[in-house]
Amino acid sequence: MNKISLNAQILLGTLMGVLLGLWFSMLGQESTVTQNGLYVAKLVGTLFIDLLRMVLIPLVFTSIVVGVANLRSHQQMNRVWLSTLGFFALTMALAIMLGLMAANLFQPGSGLQLALFQDAMQGFQGTQMPLPDFFAHFLHSLFQNPIAALAQGNVLAVVVFALLLGIALVVGGQRYRNILILMQEFLELILMLVGWIMHLAPFGIMALLLQLVATQDMNLLTLLIQFIAVVIGATLLHGLVVLPLILYFTTGMTPLKFWRGAREALITAFATSSSAATLPITLRCAEQHLHVKRDIAGFVIPLGATMNMDGTALYEAIAALFIANLMGIELSFMQQLIVFMTAMLAAMGAPGIPSAGMVTMVLVLQAVGLPAEAIAILLPIDRLLDTFRTMVNVEGDLVGSLVVQKWVATSNISKNGGDPIT
Ligand code: ASP
Repeated sequence: MNKISLNAQILLGTLMGVLLGLWFSMLGQESTVTQNGLYVAKLVGTLFIDLLRMVLIPLVFTSIVVGVANLRSHQQMNRVWLSTLGFFALTMALAIMLGLMAANLFQPGSGLQLALFQDAMQGFQGTQMPLPDFFAHFLHSLFQNPIAALAQGNVLAVVVFALLLGIALVVGGQRYRNILILMQEFLELILMLVGWIMHLAPFGIMALLLQLVATQDMNLLTLLIQFIAVVIGATLLHGLVVLPLILYFTTGMTPLKFWRGAREALITAFATSSSAATLPITLRCAEQHLHVKRDIAGFVIPLGATMNMDGTALYEAIAALFIANLMGIELSFMQQLIVFMTAMLAAMGAPGIPSAGMVTMVLVLQAVGLPAEAIAILLPIDRLLDTFRTMVNVEGDLVGSLVVQKWVATSNISKNGGDPIT
């Protein structure tokens, strides 16, 4: 099966998933055809995600160790670090500003009756986590026993340990060559497994989209249509205009070329709503289709999958203003600044799994005195919104790897001394 046909199959799977989903929702939940169809879709969709999860942790671990270790000199390491973190912060800040602007302009939620949602709010227990606690928790989750983190699939802690081990390999140099070679070969094997799993992608994507479309509550969607439109509109603006512009002006890559290289990952992100589950495919797209060097991709992509979430950051900002509108509260400029900062933290702290942004949303709400319980209003429509924001989260990681590669190469040339990254 060649590359082109796999891409075509994925697009076909996407289309079929949506069409079958619409057909099932027209037949209704009671029909046996729908029930059987949904049962099979659940089996296939879960199998696909399970396979991706199976390779996730070994992949994150080896790709970061190898990525960092191959940077070889401290100088190179610093440059990659700084460019990566700078890119993440910049794009998330832009996303939040876009979200705030859209929410101020369209004022979603100002016409809705809060009473409609009171029932939903009553049954919901918001987990109380004020900012200092959140920060302490975040810091604590960074450093864990690596064996436990690997076993429990704690991606953030695995990332941190792998970073440190990679740095130690750089500092230790030649003496630890064997370990580096071992890691490199292990990474290659895992990437081979990812290649195999990709053959299931068209079916997995079809199954996931089918379930998504068939199980949406249309009444709720029409009620919240304005909010949904603002979120999706702003998210698409970021994904289709802001990020492609940054990419184009830094690397010269056209949006079409980017889309061709990134579509497997973007469609998978849309269907799975999980940056972490998509990570094996994101890494494959970065290296094989977009030609990002393994050292850069292996560093930027896994880190981005846990930290860099433009779509989530943008969503948290709009959602906070939406809830304020529902309550009839107008947030001042200062309060919106707090939303800005906490949305960034909340997006960075959200793990790349479905609806994670919803949980960290509590932090943003509490920071400006809004009730955490209000996320009960957002939960039923989150499955839908999560698709778009996860896609943009993953897009941000891919764009990031290309931009960082360019920045590092440029600074190598201008300094004329550093080894070009191989
Ligand atoms: N589902 C998102 C992701 O995996 C996180 C979120 O819920 O915002 O990137």
